[in-house]
Amino acid sequence: MSVTECEKLAVCAFHERYVEVAPGTVRRLIGLYCKGPLYEECKRKQYIVSTGNDPPITLMPNGRDAETGEMVEF
Ligand code: SF4
Repeated sequence: MSVTECEKLAVCAFHERYVEVAPGTVRRLIGLYCKGPLYEECKRKQYIVSTGNDPPITLMPNGRDAETGEMVEF
């Protein structure tokens, strides 16, 4: 059986904040990354590897900020 869900789902601050209140575009990202085939590509995970720190809560799995829509540099 293949894995179709991110292993961080239960502890991810982004998912916890946005899963219930997210607008459609963010909800689609959750479906693609957190509960879908792209979870290994998540920029939140890459942020931790690159910086050694937890990512901002608003960093979406596609690398953009959930509030501003801007790409987050790291
Ligand atoms: S945002 Fe990234 S780390 Fe968090 S649950 Fe989704 S795929 Fe996993």
